[in-house]
Amino acid sequence: MKTETSIQGLSASLNPARSTRKIIGFVPTMGNLHEGHLNLVREARQLCDVVVVSIFVNPIQFGPNEDFDNYPRTLEHDSNLLAEVGCDIVFAPSVEQMYGKHPRLTNISVGEITNDLCGLQRPGHFDGVAVVVAKLFNIVQPNYAFFGQKDYQQLAVIKQLVRDLNMPIEVIGVPITRAEDGLALSSRNGYLSVENRQIAPMIYKSLKIAEQHLHEGQSLSETLTQIRADLSRTGFEVDYVEARTPMLQKVDQFNQDVVLFVAAKLGKTRLIDNLQVKYTST
Ligand code: AMP
Repeated sequence: MKTETSIQGLSASLNPARSTRKIIGFVPTMGNLHEGHLNLVREARQLCDVVVVSIFVNPIQFGPNEDFDNYPRTLEHDSNLLAEVGCDIVFAPSVEQMYGKHPRLTNISVGEITNDLCGLQRPGHFDGVAVVVAKLFNIVQPNYAFFGQKDYQQLAVIKQLVRDLNMPIEVIGVPITRAEDGLALSSRNGYLSVENRQIAPMIYKSLKIAEQHLHEGQSLSETLTQIRADLSRTGFEVDYVEARTPMLQKVDQFNQDVVLFVAAKLGKTRLIDNLQVKYTST
């Protein structure tokens, strides 16, 4: 496995694959890797000849009071994990390499789907994600790019970006990897105190209970209210509990697939999760 820190170096490493028309798969990450990330890489390994993983903590997607400075940076450990799952090239650029040379004047705004859910709580976040992903796509020029369904809204934003701008890339959504107790794996889980780590799986539990209640005929609004109440009672500060269609539209009819979304804080740690369910009684 090679590690490249410059755009030029990455191009040199990828040129042989490009000129022989190898299928290039790309997994963008911010590092501090766990099984969730590794499952994206495994998926890429299955579909592609060459697998590139980027590790870049992108400053422009963090708000002023968010954890950019403290975000865990564990490149050596990440590289060992990536070598084990068959990554070919790690691209780990500096902030300067990605943003340094010229002032950036271009912004990318993906419209209404970014002004909802996490976008409401984190203004500018998805613009920052769209810019860095567009830059990385241009740098890597992959055939396939892999994103986790854990960040469901992010996946939707990237799919929209690729469609709107005719980027010649197929975006693949990979299911959420969970700990045994149901907690969606996240680099931010490491911030949780021992006590809060025990409470955290309640998010997934409340989503599964909600699924059951919807199947039993409970209304969507009652179900969402109940998730909110259950989480507040267990010690979460709830940011939002919402339902949307899989395309992130408002749910206006019974008998369809809906995605239940939760964002909630435990102490200072903000956790997100989602579950796609059938909104129809059994
Ligand atoms: P991050 O490093 O947090 O930016 O995540 C990089 C990629 O890994 C994103 O596409 C995430 O959606 C994905 N990812 C993170 N955690 C999980 C998980 N538990 N299951 C599936 N994908 C994940």
